[in-house]
Amino acid sequence: MASKDYYGVLGVDKNASEDEIKSAYRKLAKKYHPDLNKDNPEAAEKFKEVNEAYEVLSDKQKRSNYDQFGSADGANFSDFFGGGNGGFGGGFSGGFGDIFDDIFSAFGGGARSSARGAGMARGEDINVALNISLSESAFGTNKDIRITKLEECPHCKGTGAKDGTAFETCPDCKGAGRVRFQQNTIFGTTIREGLCNTCKGTGKKIKEKCTECMGKGYQRVTKIVTVKVPAGIDQDQILRMRGEGNAPTSKGVAGDLNIKINIDKDKMLTRNGKDIALTVNVPFTTLILGGSVEIPTLDGKYNLEIKELTQSGTVMRLKGKGITELHKSTRGDMLVTLKSEAPNKLDKKSKELLQQFAESFKDMNYPKYSAFTDSVKKY
Ligand SMILES: [Zn+2]
Ligand SMILES: [Zn+2]
Repeated sequence: MASKDYYGVLGVDKNASEDEIKSAYRKLAKKYHPDLNKDNPEAAEKFKEVNEAYEVLSDKQKRSNYDQFGSADGANFSDFFGGGNGGFGGGFSGGFGDIFDDIFSAFGGGARSSARGAGMARGEDINVALNISLSESAFGTNKDIRITKLEECPHCKGTGAKDGTAFETCPDCKGAGRVRFQQNTIFGTTIREGLCNTCKGTGKKIKEKCTECMGKGYQRVTKIVTVKVPAGIDQDQILRMRGEGNAPTSKGVAGDLNIKINIDKDKMLTRNGKDIALTVNVPFTTLILGGSVEIPTLDGKYNLEIKELTQSGTVMRLKGKGITELHKSTRGDMLVTLKSEAPNKLDKKSKELLQQFAESFKDMNYPKYSAFTDSVKKY
C-alpha cells in the first residue's frame, strides 16, 4: 500500500496544487462512482484507489508524510484502507476517528466504535436502576431483573436470512461491507466511507428472509437477567454486564447492560463507607450504673453491654459488624453512639432521691465540669 503512486492514480504532477488535486479527484470520482458503474467491478476498485489517493493528498500533513515516507501516517494506515474484509480490525489513527463517529451516528442506532470491536457497530447499552436493601449491599445478593432488549435472532443466527444460509454476496459493496459515498457540503464535495447501507456491513445480501425476524437479524425480547450483586457494593455504583445490552442493528457487537445501584434507606442503620452507624438514646441511669441495650445489627439483634460510668456521646466500636469490603472478605465496623436521655417527667419520690444523690456529690466528682467552672471564674 505504501508504495502506491497516489499522484499517478489522480493523474497529477508531484507539485500539483490543492485545487489541481481536488479537480482531478472530482473528475475521477464521478467517472468511477459505483452508482454509475453497476456492471463494472473494476470501476469499484478504481473508485477505491482514487478516494484513497485523495484522502492522503488532500490533507497537508498526510501528503507531507507520504512525500517523505511513502506512507500517510504509519502502520495503521493500510489497515484502514485494507477493504475487502468488511472489518476494520487494525484500528485507525488521527482524524479518521471523527469520520467514523459521524458515520456511525449518520447510520442510526447510535452505534459507536469502542475499544472492543473497534470500527464495528455496537448495540446500544441498556441502563437500569436496581434497588437493594442495606443488608443486601453488605452481604451481596442475586437479583432477577426484567429487561426488554434487542437480541440476535436465534433462527437465523443474526444473519436475517432463512435458516441462516439463504444469502449471497452483496452486489453494492462486493462483500466488503463498506462503501464510499459522496457528501456535498458548502466546502465542496467530500468522499466518506461508511457501512454499506444495503447489507448493513455484513457483505451479504439476503435471498430469502428469515420469517421469524422478518430479515432483521434481531428481535425484541423480554427476559429475566440475574444480576450478581457483590457484597460491599455502594450507592450509585454501576455494575456492567458486558454484551447483555441490545444487539447491534448492523454487523457488530452487543452493547452492555449497566445496572446502577440504589440502596434503600434503612429504618435504623446508616451506612458510612464500610462502617455502619447507629445512635442510641440510653436512660441516663444506664450510663451511670451500667447495663445492656438490645440493638439491631446487620447480623441480627445484639445485646450491647454498657459499662458503669459511661459518658454521654461515647462511641462504641463493634469490630467486624460493618459492611464486607468490595471484593474482600474483611468487614468494616459498627459504630454505636450512646446518648444520655433524661426522663421527661419526675414523680415526688424520684425527685427526692435525685436531690439526695445530687447533694452527696461534689464538683470534684465531675472533673470536666469543675475544670469548666474554674475557667469561668478566671475568665
Ligand atoms: Zn431471524
Ligand atoms: Zn453491502
